[in-house]
Amino acid sequence: MNYVVIDLEWNQPIDGRSNEERELCFEIIEIGAVMLNEKRQQIGDFSRVIKPQVYKKMNSYTKGIVNIPTFELEHGEPFPDTMKEFLEWCGEDYIFCTWGSGDLVELQRNMKYYGMKNLAKEPFPYLDVQKLYGLDYEGRKTARSLEYAVSSLGIKQEVPYHRAFGDAYYTGKILSAIRNEELLTRYSYDTFHIPKTRAAELHVSFPGYEKYISRGFPDKIAAMQDREVLSSRCILCGKKLRKCVRNFTPGGKYYLNVAFCEEHGYMKSKIRLKKTDGGRVYVIKTQKMISADEMAEIAGRRAHIQEVKRIKEEMMRRTGKKE
Ligand SMILES: [Zn+2]
Repeated sequence: MNYVVIDLEWNQPIDGRSNEERELCFEIIEIGAVMLNEKRQQIGDFSRVIKPQVYKKMNSYTKGIVNIPTFELEHGEPFPDTMKEFLEWCGEDYIFCTWGSGDLVELQRNMKYYGMKNLAKEPFPYLDVQKLYGLDYEGRKTARSLEYAVSSLGIKQEVPYHRAFGDAYYTGKILSAIRNEELLTRYSYDTFHIPKTRAAELHVSFPGYEKYISRGFPDKIAAMQDREVLSSRCILCGKKLRKCVRNFTPGGKYYLNVAFCEEHGYMKSKIRLKKTDGGRVYVIKTQKMISADEMAEIAGRRAHIQEVKRIKEEMMRRTGKKE
């Protein structure tokens, strides 16, 4: 299997949005990619400028970052032709690799806008090289900038940044520099298309954790009542577990709970709620085994949040009484 390392540059509206623009917030104006073989050696490259159809003037913010001269854009090719050519170049057996998680979503939004056939009907795996770099060189997900990673690895800076080809080229170099080969199976999942049915929901195991991607629900309440979303099965033995720290939300868009397996100890579930372009709510749940100390820390956070809530309610009741 080859690695197709891709990077996109895009333009966005200058000010107010028309209906047309609402469907395409980010118009792709350049596609750059390098192909690496199984040994992660570069065996090909792809670079095309796209003639914009929706945002013909560069947004000044984008212009400050993206380095594409106007005359190049004017001589660009239409998106659908370029995309077809690109997919042919990709071949049959490959996995997409990107820096961060935004590019594949925008790629699919642009394809949808032009009525092109879907890249996939369901979530598909890709490698987020930014994540792999963090895990390999810093021991955790750090979300460093591309420039930071390139300099820290001493990679020769021989092509310009903020052009799709340059950024893809550097991302490829960083992918080649990943030392821990096990990380090359730490897939991320693109969720532009979520599972359509319960049977199609995704359960994937990684060393030390498990990921679940749900089908769509009409709203958050329906999602948080679903038995699969709420279930805690030990990721090591599959046994149904009882929760020892019940669901709570530490602010933001996710929930936490901890369950206990008599054989394997504590298991943390993190439930993130996300929205599709069509407004459906879906869940990404990650489960991993944790230590007793981590369990105690999470229990402490929940107790603190409950306490703050209790005090607020108490205060509201008292002020209510005074009136
Ligand atoms: Zn177990």
